[in-house]
Order: sequence, then C-alpha cells, then structure tokens
Amino acid sequence: MGCKKESEEDLVDNNGQVGSAANALLSDEVYKKLEVEIIHMQGYTPTSSTISNLQSFLSSCLKKPGGITISLKEIPTQSQSSYSTSDLKSIENNHRTIYNVGNTIAASIIIVDGAYTNNNVLGIAYKNTSMAIFGGTIEENSGGISKPSRSKLESTVLNHEFGHVLGLVNVGSNMVENHEANDHEGHCNNDNCLMYYAAETTEIASFLVGNDIPELDNNCEQDLTANGGK
Ligand SMILES: [Zn+2]
Ligand SMILES: [Zn+2]
Repeated sequence: MGCKKESEEDLVDNNGQVGSAANALLSDEVYKKLEVEIIHMQGYTPTSSTISNLQSFLSSCLKKPGGITISLKEIPTQSQSSYSTSDLKSIENNHRTIYNVGNTIAASIIIVDGAYTNNNVLGIAYKNTSMAIFGGTIEENSGGISKPSRSKLESTVLNHEFGHVLGLVNVGSNMVENHEANDHEGHCNNDNCLMYYAAETTEIASFLVGNDIPELDNNCEQDLTANGGK
C-alpha cells in the first residue's frame, strides 16, 4: 500500500568505520530518532552547557523528527594516565547500553579521566557511532588564566568528533566543493571551521580565549545537506 519496506542494506550496525553511518544519522529515511549516551568517568560529568551545545549542534544538522535525546552514564575511574583506542573499545563494550534498534539510531561518547596515547589529542572518533574525549587533557588546557572555559573546550572537541561521525571531511559525506586540507586528512582547510584539524588538539585552547565555539563553515554544512542532513 505504498509503504516503503526497509531493505537490509538501509540498516546499519554500530561496528562500522567512522563515517559509514553518516547518511543514517543525517537523514530521516530509515532512522527517525537519535539517542546519544555519554559514558563518563567519575569526576568528568560534562557541563550542562556542553550538553545543550551538542544538542543544538545536532538539531541544526540532523533530520530527526522523532527527536534527539542525550543521556549520561557514570562509570568508575580507571585512573590510567593514558588510554589507547583499544582501551576505549573495551570500555565501550563493557558499559555501552544503547545500540540501534527499530527506527532509532544510537551514538556513544566516552569521557575518560586521562589523556590519549598522543597527549596533544583532545578527542577521537573511532567507529561509526563511537567517539571519546580525553577529560584529563581537557582539564589541563581549560579553566585557568589565559585558558578557555571547560565548557567551551569540551563543546568544541565533542562537536568536532561528531562532525567526523557525520562524515566530515570526505570520510563518508562526499565533498560538494573540494575543501579537505592537504596536510590533514579528514579535516577542513578553513582555520575558522569546526572541522579544522586543530579543533581536536591542544592547539585550539589559546584560539578559544576570546572566540566562540567554532561552527561549521559553508563547505562542511553543504556536505551534510547533500548527504541527507538539514
Ligand atoms: Zn578531527
Ligand atoms: Zn569546514
């Protein structure tokens, strides 16, 4: 009766490469609703501005008529000075509770108490619906004199990592105009854009003093729209 039956290939699981769920997240063709679970270690609860900034960033890019919800889950500290990608994957396996089901797509964000194996890095996207930010490094680079607020730094990194999961730049959402940085794969060539490489490194901290959280530039926005987003 005119109903479009979802084929197997329209559905995605939560184990793909970064960017492979971009269209499923951006468009409302299969998934009408998004649930984001933030799994944070004790003492690393994201601030309420970080959560509302993420909510507005996602609402501005994603077609999700069923809504976008963000929930928090606290886990014990592991007190490691650094966490590798495989450490993050096992934390996710042990603690993630929300996966894609029916017409709801799910994403997971882990906030650990330490650094990444590369301590200039503030966040990473490591699977199609999985991201992590490094609370220890964010704490060191925010909140003091001549440093940005923790909310500002946390929001910048979190929105940037979600940008990768949405396929930016050229990692799942095809570029309408060529704007991938020559020297930084997967990143935008505009140093004022959220997807500039420095937004996930400690280099961004000094830039944020006196500046707002970077937003997507026209090229990045255009790529998301072309891949089914708003
Ligand atoms: Zn990045
Ligand atoms: Zn851009």
